[in-house]
Amino acid sequence: DSIMTDIPTDPSQMDWASHFPTLWKANEEEASSSGQQPMVQFADIGCGFGGLLIRLATLYPETLMVGMELRDKVSTYVKERVGALRREHPGQYGNITCVRTNAMKYLPHYFRKGQLTKMFFLFPDPHFKTANHRRRIINTMLITEYAYFLAPGGMLYTITDVKDLGDWMREKLEAHPMFERISDEELESDPASKLLTDSSEEGQKVARNKGETHRAVFRRLEKPRWT
Ligand code: SAM
Repeated sequence: DSIMTDIPTDPSQMDWASHFPTLWKANEEEASSSGQQPMVQFADIGCGFGGLLIRLATLYPETLMVGMELRDKVSTYVKERVGALRREHPGQYGNITCVRTNAMKYLPHYFRKGQLTKMFFLFPDPHFKTANHRRRIINTMLITEYAYFLAPGGMLYTITDVKDLGDWMREKLEAHPMFERISDEELESDPASKLLTDSSEEGQKVARNKGETHRAVFRRLEKPRWT
């Protein structure tokens, strides 16, 4: 982590303008004081090669979204891929970007309370051994953090091909007072949920191998469930 020198000290220091050159309002101060500055609303955590972001970009062309990826080369690849798409399709893909960061540590440096409306966790690393379960990106402590960044009514999407991890994510989220699970019927009308299985590179790999997937989607509640 010592080489992650470009972590903003707090959200106001994040240079989103350079990530969204066409959509960021030029006069930043005026735009943010009048509430006109667009905000990043979707976060793809551990975005890998960016397949989900690219699909979301055209599905929600007005929404700014960021993929967060730990591996330097992978995040550089995603940025280059997005740059190429922007050149090939003028006027499109200006709303997606990628940052290299450790999302388990640094989300508070990027986002403000209630800013996000969707968070995606597609095929996260399973950390099979019990001793390593604390490294799982869905855990009770981090779910509380995710609830903080999600607006009430915001959605948290998870999918995995590892049954044990799928059970774990669902159990931790179901037990959390700030989230409620979304039924399969309700998900039918959610276009984003249709992208979980086969838009990301990992999802496509699992689909090619006809692997089983375990999807669990949750809504961020307005108030804790016990009140
Ligand atoms: N979501 C992508 C997909 O479905 O194709 C990638 C899945 S891959 C199995 C998990 C990704 O999460 C890897 O690219 C890994 O580098 C990234 N990752 C793991 N821990 C992370 C962390 N703490 N912060 C950001 N990214 C992380």
